[in-house]
Amino acid sequence: MKCAEARKLLLLHLDSELGAQSALEVEQHLESCAECAGLFDAEKKFGDRIASALRKGESTPALWTTVGSRIRPAQRVVSIFGWPMAATASAAVVLLVAVWLVRASRPLDLATAAGECHNAYVQQITSPEFNGPLPEWIARELDNHLDAAAFDYRPTTSGFHTEGARFCHVANVPTALILGHYENVPVSLLVFNKSELSHFPKTKARLESGEPVVCSRTGRYQFAARFLDGHVVCMISEAPRPVLENLLKSVMHADG
Ligand SMILES: [Zn+2]
Repeated sequence: MKCAEARKLLLLHLDSELGAQSALEVEQHLESCAECAGLFDAEKKFGDRIASALRKGESTPALWTTVGSRIRPAQRVVSIFGWPMAATASAAVVLLVAVWLVRASRPLDLATAAGECHNAYVQQITSPEFNGPLPEWIARELDNHLDAAAFDYRPTTSGFHTEGARFCHVANVPTALILGHYENVPVSLLVFNKSELSHFPKTKARLESGEPVVCSRTGRYQFAARFLDGHVVCMISEAPRPVLENLLKSVMHADG
């Protein structure tokens, strides 16, 4: 199953509304795809929070701020906030559906996609698949969209510890994911072929305009990306931006 299909079924799966075969296929995809697993986890937590608030009959300002921030792209839905809060229960159901529709159709930019991937690592939903040389079974899965060398990049800054690596897809782009810690803070390093950058127009425009390191924030994570050889290397972590930027600048190929 591909990411696009898995994401279409994600919400149905969350509500246990899929048939056994489809549910199994989604489960299998979530096990092999860090990014979709991260997305699933985020949806689940968000749904749990709303459900629990509804059960308690609460509508905390913080919750509605979260809901509001998530549906801002769908302006026509925001008008629901004008309704009296007495209508909270039914409005919340409408909102929930609207929010999920908006989220499911939203194109991911690189920082967001990397954030979901990193979130799955932080939440221990995904973990490294290997440590050391690239296993034969992963090498067989690589085609001309990703080369084995992508798995050999590491930050050279002392204080960085590599836990291992895994192969994943980030917004359908085959990616080498190197997982580790810098001074006990989890860090994900993502490496993919430069030719795939067209999947992420915002980052592409900034890198190609000559910015040596493109930085942004996504949720509670800092994100930084740069070109290296024929690859795009990017890092994401809760570490402060200057720390992350230096860590990214120190990334080198193992043979280099
Ligand atoms: Zn996926």
